[in-house]
Amino acid sequence: MYSLLIKNATLIDGTGKPGEILDVAIQGDEIANIAAKIDSSAEITIDAKGKILTPGFVDLQNHSDSYWKIFDNPGLQSLITQGFTTILVGNCGASVAPLLTHEALFSLQKWHSLEGVNVNWTSYSEFIEELSRKRFACNIASLVGYSTLRRAIVGDQIRSLEKQELEALKTALSESLEAGAFGLSSGLSYAHEIIISELELFELAKIVKSYNGLFSIHLRSEGGEIIEALDEALDIAKSTEVNLKISHLKVRNEQNWEKFPEVINLIDSAFHQGTQVHFDLYPYDIMWQPLYSYLPKWAIEGGRTIMLKHFADPVQKNKILMYLNNLEIKFSEVRVASTANRLNFSGKTIGQIAKNLECSSEQAVLHLIQNGGSEVLVFEKNLDMSQVDELMLHPLSFISTDGSGFNNQPVGAGLVHPRSFGTAPKFLSDVIKKGTLPLETAIKKLTGGPAKKMGLKKRGEIKIGNFADLVIFDPQKIVDKATYENPYLYSEGIDYVFVNGKAALAEGKLTEKLPGYALRKS
Ligand SMILES: [Zn+2]
Repeated sequence: MYSLLIKNATLIDGTGKPGEILDVAIQGDEIANIAAKIDSSAEITIDAKGKILTPGFVDLQNHSDSYWKIFDNPGLQSLITQGFTTILVGNCGASVAPLLTHEALFSLQKWHSLEGVNVNWTSYSEFIEELSRKRFACNIASLVGYSTLRRAIVGDQIRSLEKQELEALKTALSESLEAGAFGLSSGLSYAHEIIISELELFELAKIVKSYNGLFSIHLRSEGGEIIEALDEALDIAKSTEVNLKISHLKVRNEQNWEKFPEVINLIDSAFHQGTQVHFDLYPYDIMWQPLYSYLPKWAIEGGRTIMLKHFADPVQKNKILMYLNNLEIKFSEVRVASTANRLNFSGKTIGQIAKNLECSSEQAVLHLIQNGGSEVLVFEKNLDMSQVDELMLHPLSFISTDGSGFNNQPVGAGLVHPRSFGTAPKFLSDVIKKGTLPLETAIKKLTGGPAKKMGLKKRGEIKIGNFADLVIFDPQKIVDKATYENPYLYSEGIDYVFVNGKAALAEGKLTEKLPGYALRKS
């Protein structure tokens, strides 16, 4: 007797092979049998006629660790309801381990307030031990964040590393990879990584390569200098042969959109010359980012206190306003997602706020940064949807959330980007409606493709002996519901999500079970 039997489903196995109507039997956490007809009895039998059965989705670009959600919301509901069964965290240079010193934790504060946070690990191996004692809705795998490593050594200073400091950093990286980290991530556009030299990255990439790990790079620029930034990432991958994944690829701001064909060209030709390069993206044309990131670099250097001093000095303040005024950004249309201090501005455009305050949009930006507390996040539409579409169809792309697992209770009065709730169903429903890709190709971008890229064993494909991470959905009904105005809405049309053979979602409803666990790279 099997523990679970799924009958009559159109099975799309994650390899890119077209679907076939088959029965699948599960014993415990494993796929035990796949055949045209399985007549054995099972504790649970599901008739999935007319439905699609796929491997559980794998999110290569997830931030549920830096948002602290794996600790305070292990149900990760917004991800499970999209079909994700494994997430890779530790992206964009920030991971929650190793924490060589307490300073390292500050690499996370751009995403999560560190108030009340308690950690009892330092090394990656202690972290993964601690994580192994916990359970989650999805399986959790992690990269090591370069900013996390670096800040442990140089703290808040922005400078290059001494020779012995670089050695210490390399040792910590090797130890983490040894203990089961899946690779390294860097967030080169963030303040603490912007001065990292290519040489430093090269040294680290060599270590990642020696462990066959993944190097996940958030490019130094996604706008005006995207070509140089891409060249840098591709150079590292070419010369070290490291397995490279470019995070949330996009060309920001209308004046840079013309660079798009060259971006594609560079990636394609590197791949054809043998570089292991792929990229991921989310299927939205609006970005979610901290408002302070629009300020000139000199104004934010040295932290918030110094920044506020600049605001208080009329000469400096004027310089900042002039700078903002000269940016090709329509601040009046930028929408406030959330503020740390409650200002009741969430959902309003900066134009509306400026009107209320009877000031210019640029002045309203400074008002918001000053009064909104340490985290003021905004939505800005600065991507070209036809480019986003093209990237989704590109053979080297994977679809990922760049988001986090939330439940449907709004965080404070703030809004989050709908990608945390809708990425996979939005992508799939679009592909199905428009017929832009064969469904098996689309499914591979969410399953076998990313699983192979990150070196995930026995997951990402439906075959005998693999873990029973499975999704059953209705191709006519799968749909995302989350919007920018109302993001806390779960996706619909997915009937079942199994993680390690147990249902995290059944008959379209969350079971609130936690069948997932921490994964070590083997
Ligand atoms: Zn990033």
